[in-house]
Amino acid sequence: KGERPVLVVEGLSVAYGRITALAEVDLVVPERTVMGLIGPNGAGKSTFTDAVTGFIPGATGSVTLDGRKLDGLPVHRRAAAGLRRTFQQDRVPPGLTVAGFLRFSAHRRVSAAELEEMADFLNLGTLERHVSELDVGSRRLLEVAGALLSRPKVIILDEPAAGLAHAESMELAERLTEVPGRFGTSVLLIEHDLEMVRRACAEVVVLDFGQVIAAGPPATTLARPEVARAYLGDE
Ligand code: ATP
Repeated sequence: KGERPVLVVEGLSVAYGRITALAEVDLVVPERTVMGLIGPNGAGKSTFTDAVTGFIPGATGSVTLDGRKLDGLPVHRRAAAGLRRTFQQDRVPPGLTVAGFLRFSAHRRVSAAELEEMADFLNLGTLERHVSELDVGSRRLLEVAGALLSRPKVIILDEPAAGLAHAESMELAERLTEVPGRFGTSVLLIEHDLEMVRRACAEVVVLDFGQVIAAGPPATTLARPEVARAYLGDE
């Protein structure tokens, strides 16, 4: 759509010993977009997320956020620059209330009205509930909410629908399409549920064996033979 690039990843490579988990991956996330990052198990999606957000210091290549090079910066500096992520397994500490967690995760002062609005947006229920009372799916959404409250430029969601029922996943897909307009945040959605990807994403990038094998709008990209082949034998 001719949008300005906000996240530019160039030549990103990661090796675990002799295993090449990512090989020279290039990926551009435009401003105000929801982009999917898919691929079969072991394709390198989590490794990509870890490398881009600074969890793997040994990665080579470059990561630029809104014109600023993030290479060599630790996780918290990248987060402060506007690059947030969520995890496949939630990392919500127990003992907090929903409101307490959201305030902690926002990394800035947020008003009660903002918290209410966010809780409403992602169906988190009452702000006074304890995190320990939430089911797995709600805790994952809580992490998304907390990260969004920091108003990041880009948020990378690592399988946010894991633990959600089908209807909830579809609802989340709808919500994600609203994120760029409401928060000015681009979303990179890592997801196994391809129906969710079709619903949420304007574009999709397909990884296989640590390399980009296809990219483009979901309808045409998911129909390509090399993509179907990559998924054979998976799940
Ligand atoms: P999934 O969909 O199952 O989460 P993925 O696409 O996220 O898979 P990665 O977890 O990034 O894939 O794994 C990419 C490759 O790197 C795989 O071959 C995996 O076995 C390997 N790998 C991942 N983490 C490590 C590690 N800590 N040590 C060694 N090899 C690893």
